[in-house]
Amino acid sequence: MKIKRITLLLSFMWTMIIVISFFWNYRQLIQEQERIALETGRSFFNQMIITRLWNARHGGVYVPVTEKTLPNPYLDVAMREIDVNDNLTLTKVNPAFMTRQISEIGIEEKDIQFHMTSLKPIRPQNKATKREEVFLKDFEKGVKEAGIFTKQGSITSFFYMAPLKTKKSCLTCHAKQGYKVGDVRGGISVTLPFAMEIPVLSLLLAYLVIGGAGLCVIIILGVKLNRAYEIIKRQSLFDTLTEIPNRRSFSETIAREFSRSQRNQNPLSIIMCDIDNFKAYNDTYGHSNGDICLNKVAQGIKNSLKRPGDFCARYGGEEFIVILPDTVSDGAIHVAERIRLHIEEMGITHEKSLPARVVTLSLGVATSEDTIGLVFHEKLIQYADTALYKAKDQGRNQVQSSSEVAGFS
Ligand code: GH3
Ligand code: MG
Ligand code: MG
Repeated sequence: MKIKRITLLLSFMWTMIIVISFFWNYRQLIQEQERIALETGRSFFNQMIITRLWNARHGGVYVPVTEKTLPNPYLDVAMREIDVNDNLTLTKVNPAFMTRQISEIGIEEKDIQFHMTSLKPIRPQNKATKREEVFLKDFEKGVKEAGIFTKQGSITSFFYMAPLKTKKSCLTCHAKQGYKVGDVRGGISVTLPFAMEIPVLSLLLAYLVIGGAGLCVIIILGVKLNRAYEIIKRQSLFDTLTEIPNRRSFSETIAREFSRSQRNQNPLSIIMCDIDNFKAYNDTYGHSNGDICLNKVAQGIKNSLKRPGDFCARYGGEEFIVILPDTVSDGAIHVAERIRLHIEEMGITHEKSLPARVVTLSLGVATSEDTIGLVFHEKLIQYADTALYKAKDQGRNQVQSSSEVAGFS
């Protein structure tokens, strides 16, 4: 029973370990993906910053005016356009304009979107979205960067944003907005496609296999241990030769029944049985036949008991003891007589047995109600033993009761 409970407890603990470990692992994988997404967003942002710095350090770069690169109306500087010849006019591209153009290429080619934005944008299209506005305000409070996963339909993206700090080279255009070196002038957001790739199924499968295998081992070991325990327990309580309870089992049962009879003030009887002339049986038929005979007698005694509470055990070599709960002296004598008759009628040949030429029993009966002030069950056994000796003395193959033995009580 205890082993079953321990097995159950271990199985439960193992299952908990597996479940907790699965979720921990799953969480780790998510965090790893989040870290990769953040690192990717940060790299794109940094690359953009470096490119912008390159541009700013040149004070803007000139590119040919084309359909796609028209002069920047928000760039208020001298020599914004330079006519090289009739076919070529160059226009100055500042970092902001360049960011916008790179962003357009990013969207066209790789679905990567850059958005330069500010709470005070010079160009209206650079106005911050609601999400960007929240982050820009956080940046002003000192937050260094932000990254979140977003979902549009079935497409998952990662949105990264970090502040644009005013550098000396930026003041050419932005000094008039009142920015000083170091001020957060806005930010650049990067939105890139990023599907979280967590192998949930294979992870689940691996955990199911490990968890299941562990559970199987625990259960198999538990069952085996329980079986071994049951065998050992049985061996410790049952006699291996006769397969009826042994003396240890008798001691436990008599102690329990005795205190129950005392508590409930019910009578309790015991019968001590001893095979007559058994040494002679062994000497005549051999020890192994003696064993067979012992077994037959044990089964005979057991089969003579009718009530479910009646109990018989092998007390010693060829001695057996019977416990009869709630049984008065007359009833116990009656049962003893039934046992005696049954064994005699089994007719196990025993040439050297003087009373009947078959195996017989002498029986001593003792009942708790016959013994005034009985405090220990050992006394009851002693009385039954004395009655048994009287049965032996008076010629064997008979029943004697402690109440009939002089000197009791
Ligand atoms: P009594 O009628 O006075 O009881 O005589 P007895 O010969 O039965 O008594 P005694 O105590 O002299 O002998 C008991 C014998 O029981 C001795 C022993 O060889 C035998 N015996 C005890 N245990 C076993 C056993 O497990 N197997 C066999 N075959 N014999 C046993
Ligand atoms: Mg004996
Ligand atoms: Mg004997």
